[in-house]
Amino acid sequence: MKIELFPGRREPGDQLWNFDYTEMDLGDFLASFYQRGQVHLSIQLLGKDYHITGELFAPLVLECSRCLEPFRHPLNLNLSWMVRRVAALSLEEELPDGDFEILPETQELDFTARIRENIIFNLPVKPLCRPDCRGLCPFCGQNLNIQECSCRREAVDPRWDGLRQLLH
Ligand SMILES: [Zn+2]
Ligand SMILES: [Zn+2]
Repeated sequence: MKIELFPGRREPGDQLWNFDYTEMDLGDFLASFYQRGQVHLSIQLLGKDYHITGELFAPLVLECSRCLEPFRHPLNLNLSWMVRRVAALSLEEELPDGDFEILPETQELDFTARIRENIIFNLPVKPLCRPDCRGLCPFCGQNLNIQECSCRREAVDPRWDGLRQLLH
């Protein structure tokens, strides 16, 4: 996802950039997409700097951490970055979050890594297909969202203790 800049020439004022993407390497995060993702960026020139705002749509498929079934998890995120033209680049760690620095001659900015960071940062730590997912039976592996099994789960699952005490 590259944006063209026009250093030294007459920069256009506000610009809109739209990207479609079908895949993105999310490393170990096990996410894929169920349709095309979209990124809309709007660029505003402020002196020599740029203010970039936009929206990110990521139609993710995640794996439920309880029942292991894939489920759709669409992410909609707002984006906001400052891009500053500087004579010499700072170290990455010294930059405020979400800021970029570019050299006077830079003509192109690639946002792919930032988009990926945004998606990964917003992934749920413990993905659930639904808040009350019942998961798999630890004995027979039955997906308990779909069907009960005949294993005596209540005998070992400490989460049932309180309920059992209520009943007895
Ligand atoms: Zn689940
Ligand atoms: Zn079972």
